[in-house]
Amino acid sequence: MSVYEAVIGLEVHAQLATASKMFCSCPNHFGNEPNENVCEVCSGMPGALPTLNKKAVEYAAKTGMALNCTVNDYSVFARKSYFYPDLPAGFQTSQLNPPICEHGYVDVTVNGESRRIGITRIHMEDDAGKNLHTGGNISLVDLNRAGTPLIEIVTEPDLRGAEEAATFMRKLRSVLLYLGVCDGNMEEGSLRCDANVSIRPRGSSVFGTRVEIKNLNSFRNVQRAIEYEIKRQKECLEEGEALVQETRLYDSVKNITLSMRSKEEAQDYRYFPNPDLPPVRVSGEELAAWRKELPELPDARRERFMRGFGLSPQDADLLTSEKALADFFEAAVNAYPQAKRIANLIQGELLRELNAGGADLASSPLRPENLAELARIIDEGVISTKIAQDIFGELFAKGGSPEALVRSKGLVQISDAGELEQAVLAAIAENPSEKEAYCGGKTKLLSFFVGQVMKKTRGKANPALVNELLKKHLS
Ligand code: ADP
Ligand code: MG
Ligand code: ZN
Repeated sequence: MSVYEAVIGLEVHAQLATASKMFCSCPNHFGNEPNENVCEVCSGMPGALPTLNKKAVEYAAKTGMALNCTVNDYSVFARKSYFYPDLPAGFQTSQLNPPICEHGYVDVTVNGESRRIGITRIHMEDDAGKNLHTGGNISLVDLNRAGTPLIEIVTEPDLRGAEEAATFMRKLRSVLLYLGVCDGNMEEGSLRCDANVSIRPRGSSVFGTRVEIKNLNSFRNVQRAIEYEIKRQKECLEEGEALVQETRLYDSVKNITLSMRSKEEAQDYRYFPNPDLPPVRVSGEELAAWRKELPELPDARRERFMRGFGLSPQDADLLTSEKALADFFEAAVNAYPQAKRIANLIQGELLRELNAGGADLASSPLRPENLAELARIIDEGVISTKIAQDIFGELFAKGGSPEALVRSKGLVQISDAGELEQAVLAAIAENPSEKEAYCGGKTKLLSFFVGQVMKKTRGKANPALVNELLKKHLS
């Protein structure tokens, strides 16, 4: 075991899925023509007055509740000074103290062990625009993103490894999607994170010098950047070099982190209360109403799936990780109450199709009732699981009744002993040496014979019946 231990804290930015921007009525929409969604407020014109988007406050507060935070009835917006071309106002509108939410936690399970990760705070702020470097000597500024509502979720330095950090991010994304407050699209930047990483001798209670890695935009990059950084810091210390507190960038192509700048301190930002925005007040009634609207969250749903459907913790984890998948599973079980069979089809066949990237659940014509019917015709012996695998791609692409599909393709399972017996006898007759070995005690060869029979029947033979018949004729 290594003599060092990693200490990690994340700062996660999530764009809120509101219709309009944080402080103006411009559309909050990705993918428009550059500078299409811009007004005097979000382009930072002097004298333009911001108006707070109430939906953004609701989403921030709901996220806080879901992450077991205290939601403050009073919080304030501050100006945080920067100089960047994509931030024409010269400041970001953010929250210093008090933020809208603080003192929460999230439980994550890593390698079977449950770990509680503290949430220091959640504050609201607006996003900057985007600089587009054209490659020539010209850079362009697109302010469509400027003013997009963000929440920043800051964790305590409670994470102890790269995998744990990635698992935390997955869990957080899942909660945000359940709440419907963020679309969770990491490629488009709706969800991104900065990772603060330090190491210290195992058993020490003081923190080491930390490095902040900016803007990690996939789970894989979160994990790999932190892994690299831990290794780099260890090597530095082992060679007697001192670590510097700095901001680094992750290069995902080379899989290294590079120094960007020395770390700025809070005082460098010249935070001061934004005089254009009154304090944010959240009343007890509003809070109670929002709390009532909270959906069942992943942890609760996972428990219910284990209790109600007898799923294993691993199955329940997987099936509740995405709300859409959990909804699909539940609808299928409602149509045909064999949870284990349906869970297996989802984890085996459906996820394979989804991971292959052709379509997502929302755009596939496959309905939960179709999957339920597939489970039923397997259970009824109309088809084998092998045939279910074979037709699944087509079913996923076209939807509709799987029973009609297998009948039209002539793939209905042969469960007639008389019909199968011929294939069984032929398989034995064609393989005399295997038969001899089987009779001599190599009973593992049974599966070889099953394979032969399946070949002859193009996968349509009822496997249980084949086993039975083979055993009878081989002995
Ligand atoms: P900022 O980055 O804006 O200066 P903070 O100092 O509050 O903000 O810290 C931000 C993040 O850094 C938090 O997630 C916190 O848990 C984490 N952090 C603080 N100290 C360390 C450390 N020594 N090692 C790793 N992470 C740390
Ligand atoms: Mg920071
Ligand atoms: Zn605007």
